[in-house]
Amino acid sequence: MPVMTTNIKGQLNPVRIFCDFDGTISTKDIGYDLFDRYGEQTPWHDDLVDERIGIREYWLGVVGTLTHILTDHLLDEYLRTIPIDNGFAELLQLVRDHNVPFTVLSDGLSIYLHRFLTLNGYDDLEIVCNEAWNDDEGKLQVRFSHAADGCECPSTVCKRNVVLTRSAPDERIIYIGDGSSDFCPAECADVIFAKGNLAAYCNKNGLPHHSWKHLAEVVKELEKILTRRRIRPRRQAELARKRVWESG
Ligand SMILES: [Mg+2]
Ligand SMILES: [Zn+2]
Repeated sequence: MPVMTTNIKGQLNPVRIFCDFDGTISTKDIGYDLFDRYGEQTPWHDDLVDERIGIREYWLGVVGTLTHILTDHLLDEYLRTIPIDNGFAELLQLVRDHNVPFTVLSDGLSIYLHRFLTLNGYDDLEIVCNEAWNDDEGKLQVRFSHAADGCECPSTVCKRNVVLTRSAPDERIIYIGDGSSDFCPAECADVIFAKGNLAAYCNKNGLPHHSWKHLAEVVKELEKILTRRRIRPRRQAELARKRVWESG
């Protein structure tokens, strides 16, 4: 059962938390760094940043440049060098204490994401991301199963669509992220925790948000929010959600 929150009218509302992975849970953008190390980012990454291609073309491009097979051994050795944000354990504890559903959302690839979380002791989280696996010849294959139907974002996992299909109209949505794939879900969130490009986007577009650098800061603020159990819906987010629900 999700934690029940009382809004100003005294009605009960459940809460849901969605959290980005690369640069949010992992302290480094593994999706970038891994392929920079064992493959080639040029010209794919520049093309992505300059919006000449979307994430789908980007992943297919960089995956094709791999010079190494991403074996479990190679991944483990590499992933052990990437620190997890040291507030993540505390964040999960808080979320569990308050019985709030928590979903990791990523436009990255399952092959490093699951491994990284498992290596750090988290193999029971709900994760939505692109699926990637080695075929019989050791070639990395990717499957994109969360397309951005109805959204203009360039992502293959449209986080907004995942957030909306997993939440009910009376639920308060809390979003934690740092990058451009977090823009469209943040528009639909009642409470936003933002750093990096997401914080810049929120500032530019007038989205109220809590800024953070380390997850420990998110924990501190979130604890107050969940303990107070009084989360007001953000009007613009409500309207954005309504628009999507009505169109889809
Ligand atoms: Mg990120
Ligand atoms: Zn989207």
